[in-house]
Amino acid sequence: MQTVEEILKLKKVKNTAVRSIVLKHLLNQQKAQSLKDIETALIHTDRSSIFRTLKTFQKNAIIHSIEDGSGTIKYAVCAEGCNCELEDLHYHFYCLNCDKAFCLFEIPIPKINLPKNFKQTQANMVIKGFCDKCS
Ligand SMILES: [Zn+2]
Ligand SMILES: [Zn+2]
Repeated sequence: MQTVEEILKLKKVKNTAVRSIVLKHLLNQQKAQSLKDIETALIHTDRSSIFRTLKTFQKNAIIHSIEDGSGTIKYAVCAEGCNCELEDLHYHFYCLNCDKAFCLFEIPIPKINLPKNFKQTQANMVIKGFCDKCS
């Protein structure tokens, strides 16, 4: 797995204390994190700095956001080599019991044929059910 320093360098994002703390936290999680999850875990870090950091990370394809239907946006670190292009999109899994969302990096979202003059820019595919801990 890549280190915080390697990822920031690769994506040409300046390393700051807050960025380093937030990215390290995200890398250490098995599941996607909501803004509230991150704020709760990093209680000593300024909340608006955390929010700005997430926006910067998202813009630079370090993390991606997940809409799992729970009403809360969650964030997960992108896979190595991800540029957050359409071909990097993958399925997510949402556990109905523990409210956790997971990246299914190995299951890409297939290209579909859209009607004439329709242009795809995003996709959001979520499988729902129970995770290994809850099933
Ligand atoms: Zn679960
Ligand atoms: Zn994901």
